[in-house]
Amino acid sequence: MKRILDGMMATMQRVKPPRMTALRDLHDAHTGPFSILIGTILSARTRDESTTKVVKELFARYKTPRELARARHRDVERIVKPIGFYRVKSRRIMEVARIIDTKYGGRVPDDLETLVGLPGVGRKTANCVLVYAFEKPAIPVDIHVHRISNRLGLVDTRTPEETEAALTKKVPKRHWLHVNDIFVMYGQNICKPVSPMCEVCGIRSLCKYYANSASLSKRESRRPAQPRQRRKTERKTAGSARGPRKGTRRSGRPSSRRAGPSSPAARKKSRTRSQSP
Ligand code: SF4
Repeated sequence: MKRILDGMMATMQRVKPPRMTALRDLHDAHTGPFSILIGTILSARTRDESTTKVVKELFARYKTPRELARARHRDVERIVKPIGFYRVKSRRIMEVARIIDTKYGGRVPDDLETLVGLPGVGRKTANCVLVYAFEKPAIPVDIHVHRISNRLGLVDTRTPEETEAALTKKVPKRHWLHVNDIFVMYGQNICKPVSPMCEVCGIRSLCKYYANSASLSKRESRRPAQPRQRRKTERKTAGSARGPRKGTRRSGRPSSRRAGPSSPAARKKSRTRSQSP
């Protein structure tokens, strides 16, 4: 895992120094666990730049869970408006602020079970709070972590939840704090969902996806060109397997190019017509 994390960082420094993620930004600004919790809830399906801006504006105005819980909903909604689903999210963060204030004395819980009991907080958000707010070892798995882990062949999973379970078994605990941060930056900058930049990737020798695509293109380049006649025969065979296409004969020629009339009556009529002056 160390080779992977170091290789990712070296690639990003070489190719394109990455922007910090919104959560790293909030962590480094020492804004505290509550802003990281609220920032994580707001960041769902939102660009990092928008999240950071909104969280900073929100916390410049409301410094504590109580202040946010007692704010006018209309004012909170106006601040949150630049990000997606702002109506739902503004209601949700005010509800979370109220629970943190009344039930937990204004302190954000630092264990997974309590965090996932808060409205709108799933495993990924809870794990982000553990990592970025409390520096407790956890592996928050979002779409980037899920995709890259599968591409590398670290896991073979279908959902982020399965990926989290598999990674926690496979990755030594001392690396857990860094997996989300580095994988997310790598997913945003190099190993993108579509057209990953494998040609500049410093860990492609460790990547199953790259090995598979490289051997596929090798096989493609070695395959001899098929002779023309053989291709034609294959097309015929394929056609017969699927049945002829509408408007074509088995030979593949369109029906309008047929040699002559098909029924005996039609053939007779045609002969009479061609003999008449
Ligand atoms: S080789 Fe390509 S697919 Fe594999 S980790 Fe690097 S960028 Fe992603």
